[in-house]
This record gives sequence, C-alpha cells and structure tokens, in this order.
Amino acid sequence: MPINIPETDKKRVVIAGAGFAGLTLARKLIKLDLEVVLLDRNNYHQFQPLFYQVATAGFSEAILNDPASGSSRFFLGITYIAMNEFNQAIDMLDGVANQQGDYTKDARWYLGLAYLKTGNKAKASECFELLAQTSGFYRKRSERTLRLLK
Ligand SMILES: Cc1cc2nc3c(=O)[nH]c(=O)nc-3n(C[C@H](O)[C@H](O)[C@H](O)COP(=O)(O)OP(=O)(O)OC[C@H]3O[C@@H](n4cnc5c(N)ncnc54)[C@H](O)[C@@H]3O)c2cc1C
Repeated sequence: MPINIPETDKKRVVIAGAGFAGLTLARKLIKLDLEVVLLDRNNYHQFQPLFYQVATAGFSEAILNDPASGSSRFFLGITYIAMNEFNQAIDMLDGVANQQGDYTKDARWYLGLAYLKTGNKAKASECFELLAQTSGFYRKRSERTLRLLK
C-alpha cells in the first residue's frame, strides 16, 4: 500500500504505533520543528480502558440470546470485577457457581474474591471452603486464602 508522506526539509520522526505512547509522543513532538509521521496498522485509536464496557455489552447480549449460558454469565461476572462493580459481579457469578457446569469452580473462586472486595468475609470463606474440598487448580489456593482469612 503506497504511503503518502509529504517531502519537507524538516527532520522526520516516524512513530510506529498510535496507541497511548505513540499519541502522547506525537502530541509532544508536533510542537517542535519536525515532521512527525504516526503509523498504525489500524485507522482508529483503541481506547483500552473502555474495553470492559464494550465487553459487558457483548456478554449481556449473549446472555439475552442464551439465558442459560454459564460461560457468558461467568465472563460478564469477571468483567464486572475488573470494573470494580463487585455487587453486580456477585449477582452474576452466584448463579454460575451454584449450577453444575464448565465454569462452576472458576465462578466460585471469583465469587469468593468479589465477596472479599465487599468486605463479606463469611460469604467469601464459604466459597473457599467449598473449593478447598474439591480437587484441581483452586484447592491449594483456597486453602491458603482460608488460612490468611483466619
Ligand atoms: C482492558 C484494558 C483496560 C485498561 N485500562 C487502563 C486504565 O484504566 N488505565 C491505564 O492507565 N491503563 C489501562 N490499560 C493499559 C493501557 O491501555 C496500556 O498500558 C497502554 O495502552 C499501553 O500503551 P502502548 O502505547 O504501549 O500500547 P497500545 O496502546 O496497545 O498501542 C500500541 C499500538 O501499536 C499498534 N500496532 C501494534 N503492532 C503494530 C504493527 N505491527 N504495525 C502497526 N501498528 C501496530 C496497535 O494498533 C496500537 O495502536 C488497560 C488495558 C486494557 C487491555
């Protein structure tokens, strides 16, 4: 693809990537007597801090289309955690943790973490105690977390 960069006598600075760093640098360099060329593979800037909001819209739609979907509810729940929306995370993860499915244990772990974030140690401990009685990935870390909570 041809790139249309005007010829000038100014020194040229080429910035690869128009993300946060590239944009910030470009805005600073443009004030100097330089030709600034900002390249990106996309013709738009991805504002990553809003990805979570975009994700909640996508997962909410997926739940509307398939209300029984444990995976959509689980991922919406952990997206709420990333957004510090712990009560909404609890609403979402509670249903998944209390149903047998592919995401039951994961949901219970994150439900425990969400309860901890709301200060509800009793409910958090219930989650970790159940996980400590299971086999697999969450067992040891639940035991460790329970020791820390005592
Ligand atoms: C979901 C999410 C939420 C976040 N929330 C926050 C927040 O609230 N606060 C905060 O401070 N930080 C947040 N961050 C982190 C922040 O977004 C990154 O630290 C920051 O974007 C890094 O800046 P960067 O310029 O190094 O990379 P990026 O912003 O990722 O930019 C890299 C750019 O390079 C381009 N590029 C890559 N490869 C090529 C190629 N081969 N050719 C051409 N162009 C290319 C990409 O298209 C992109 O535009 C978040 C990140 C994510 C993923």
